[in-house]
Amino acid sequence: MTRSASLFEQAQKHIPGGVNSPVRAFAGVGGTPLFFKHAEGAYVVDEDDKRYVDYVGSWGPMILGHGHPEVLNAVRAQIEHGLSYGAPTALEVEMADLVCSLVPSMDMVRMVSSGTEATMSAIRLARGYTGRDSIIKFEGCYHGHSDSLLVKAGSGALTLGVPSSPGVPAAFAQHTITLPFNDLDAVAACLAEKADEVACIIVEPVAGNMNCVPPVPGFLEGLREQCDKYGVVLIFDEVMTGFRVALGGAQAHFGITPDLSTFGKVIGGGMPVACFGGKKEVMSYIAPLGPVYQAGTLSGNPLAMAAGIATLKLISRPGFHAELTDYTQRLLQGLQERADAAGIPFTTTQAGGMFGLYFTDRKNITSFADATSCNVEHFKQFFHLMLEGGVYLAPSAFEAGFTSIALGDTEMQITLDAAEKAFAKMKS
Ligand code: PLP
Repeated sequence: MTRSASLFEQAQKHIPGGVNSPVRAFAGVGGTPLFFKHAEGAYVVDEDDKRYVDYVGSWGPMILGHGHPEVLNAVRAQIEHGLSYGAPTALEVEMADLVCSLVPSMDMVRMVSSGTEATMSAIRLARGYTGRDSIIKFEGCYHGHSDSLLVKAGSGALTLGVPSSPGVPAAFAQHTITLPFNDLDAVAACLAEKADEVACIIVEPVAGNMNCVPPVPGFLEGLREQCDKYGVVLIFDEVMTGFRVALGGAQAHFGITPDLSTFGKVIGGGMPVACFGGKKEVMSYIAPLGPVYQAGTLSGNPLAMAAGIATLKLISRPGFHAELTDYTQRLLQGLQERADAAGIPFTTTQAGGMFGLYFTDRKNITSFADATSCNVEHFKQFFHLMLEGGVYLAPSAFEAGFTSIALGDTEMQITLDAAEKAFAKMKS
């Protein structure tokens, strides 16, 4: 038995399902999850000492690769001064200034410790600001696991087949209107009927929790117009896309200005950090400036700020995102060529340093239906064959993949060689 398998057995005794977040359990691909003990640069190392080229990057944060020396040094330097104070710090001021300078739509920002907190708080704020109760979200989009957002959600909820979770009272879910992603007509029709009940539209500008589904041209622009027309707060959930699709996030990439945004993952460089922010007029409603309550014992934690600030500075160097995007493009092209050569129906999607792999005949993936109609059995096979070949992909057909700047020619070769063998075996 491998050490990972034996740890998994042991883990299940005191940890539900052996994991602290469902999608880690390999339920979507079968088999036993790998337990990691080390990560460095483009690689993760499991408990059995096998190294893998990593395309998960801790589900998005590790855009610099693992253990970047400048990030580690920033954390080490801060450790000497204590772990947490529960009082304001200069680091938080620096972080707020940095985020607001990198993302022009952000006049003000509040730090929190997870993406779930960020989206939950942004929604409470939108409700408090507008005095309306309902929210619009899109099918297959995941915004964390707070009650009103766990309705037709993506990510682990979709992987495990429970997109709408038991435990969410019907009375909460009743205020959540779920519409098809990329369907502007549905949004217009809904708002024409009940805009005076709708506080906000929350959207992943590139949907990354039902695999990777970019917005169709006009969709995000249309959301902006509809929100302006009816006084609805537009929230871009950039927990995944922020600082990844472009330095200024998907909003910079697509040129749309939301009212509020949420960020997570990259902003903490691997530490528990997220934030929400946006227009001063709206953010002024947050306590202690305004009446909408929101708080956190560890919010703006100094170690986490140190890691996040170092990460944001490093990714701000000119050319960073162009390089990341270029690697991702070459990777997807290489995979496509090998799948085509083997005669495996396959297509890909991409936005900057995030990507989707689809086992399907379809060439155009624009909806939840497209994303979920791909061949999951093919994905499972491919996933395990890639693991054998030393490549770690997200263990679910419904999650985006992530590249890091630590990936180079060697890793490209390992990945494409593994894929070539995988496609050949899948064909036979
Ligand atoms: N929003 C999006 C778009 C996400 O992808 C995620 C997590 O994957 C979240 C929110 C929730 O973030 P967290 O897992 O940090 O609570």
